[in-house]
Amino acid sequence: MKLLLVFLASIFVATSAIESVASGTTLDSTITDSNWIERGLEQISAERMVADIAELSSSRFGGRQTGTDQDRESAAFVADRFSALRLHRSTVSTPENRTNPLPQREWKQTMPVTAATIQDEPFLQIASANNQSTLRVGPEFLPILDSPSADIHSSIVFVGYGLSDPAQGIDDYAGLDIRNKIVLFLRGKPEPYKGAFTHADKVRIAKEKGAAAYLTATGPVLSPYEVRRGTTGTPTALYAGTDPSQQLPGAWISTDIAEAIVQNGTPDNKPLRDLQEAITRTGSSRSFVTSATARLVWTTLSSPGTLYNVASLIRGYSPRSDETIIIGAHRDHFGKQAGRLFAGADDNASGTAVMLEVARVLASAPAAPKRSILFLSFSGEEQGLLGSRLYVSQPIAPLAKTVGMINIDHAGVGNGRLTVGVTGLEKSVAAEAGQASGLSDKLDLYGFFPGGDHVPFKEAGVPTITVVSGGVHPHFHQPTDTADTIDPEIVKSVARYVLALAWQLANAP
Ligand SMILES: [Zn+2]
Repeated sequence: MKLLLVFLASIFVATSAIESVASGTTLDSTITDSNWIERGLEQISAERMVADIAELSSSRFGGRQTGTDQDRESAAFVADRFSALRLHRSTVSTPENRTNPLPQREWKQTMPVTAATIQDEPFLQIASANNQSTLRVGPEFLPILDSPSADIHSSIVFVGYGLSDPAQGIDDYAGLDIRNKIVLFLRGKPEPYKGAFTHADKVRIAKEKGAAAYLTATGPVLSPYEVRRGTTGTPTALYAGTDPSQQLPGAWISTDIAEAIVQNGTPDNKPLRDLQEAITRTGSSRSFVTSATARLVWTTLSSPGTLYNVASLIRGYSPRSDETIIIGAHRDHFGKQAGRLFAGADDNASGTAVMLEVARVLASAPAAPKRSILFLSFSGEEQGLLGSRLYVSQPIAPLAKTVGMINIDHAGVGNGRLTVGVTGLEKSVAAEAGQASGLSDKLDLYGFFPGGDHVPFKEAGVPTITVVSGGVHPHFHQPTDTADTIDPEIVKSVARYVLALAWQLANAP
């Protein structure tokens, strides 16, 4: 009886397996091999991932800024890799998965975007009564990347955190005339303030109040979260994320420069630290007109371009093959800005390399998993999760049947531990994959992380698991995030964990 069934099944596969003929592979998708994952984990190659990170961070891909030719090239790199892996060879039609509508090849999703680039040699000079200094690009200032061109000279007004929410009893602009002035506000928000207030909100308010431009800086007093992340006072690459009608020229300046502006600009030489502490303690404003002026000059070139998401699929074999696990990583970074290449090795060539390596190993499995596994390479993450939002608005696999989205971001440097954020699933699921991959003692499990391509999925009700290498990422959004800083052991751990997790989710009963 058993023999007859095998015989009948093989006839069925032979007559209906159109894709397997195309790829020249005969895959017996009816065989499960529960021990394969142990062998799969051994196949993960740190060298391969380090080589991919070096390639993706090289000048060939120019920092992979969304909407540029270089990012299109990097999309082609990922698509070529997917097609070389022939992931779709696993898409043998079986009686169980024949009705699965998921696509069978690598696939692209696009949308029009604008690529803004700050041209070389932006200029920012700060002057006070007895001092004038031209700031150094990088350590002392960096224009906000989607800032319009600037040619502005005006006095600087300190406006605390730049909040205006009278209903909550805080208005950093109360009683001030900031028309045609340059406002200086701190990053983040004071501890007592409970409302949501983004950088884009602060820019919008400054514009509404008539400011000509803005400067922003990290305050000298760090929150526990900032300390844990290793936040420094150095400016980093940032998109304001405002819509075009709300844009205002702006720059991130170092904490040291902000301290000098504030301290020299107050009659009683009050340090910025004292003002920041007073705002946090009392929840009330400490805004004032400083005696310093700033001159901002730079050119921004904006050109139309295209955002590319790239995807490929291993089709599951069981009646659950219409359920999908997503393994996603953003590919984009900041490109070349203000004359500096932002190579984005840790952010997120590392996650892209991990995704490709996990795909390579899964493609070598002797049997397809029960559920389908969709690999997604997003662009536009740095500009406000554009690619993942695009995917969620036009999902290739129904979101209601997407049983988990694994997001890999910043997988290349740190302290050797894995930080895992889980939503919509029991944390024990994430812990089990730690056991399977031999990493139990290196996992730090949390709930939701704000920021990242998992967020649109979480908002759409899809369970998410975000994997980030633990500890400080000292080159975060800096031109120093280069391939030579990557730790092979760390990317290897992340890949082992993601492989075990994906296999577990895809084969769970
Ligand atoms: Zn980033």
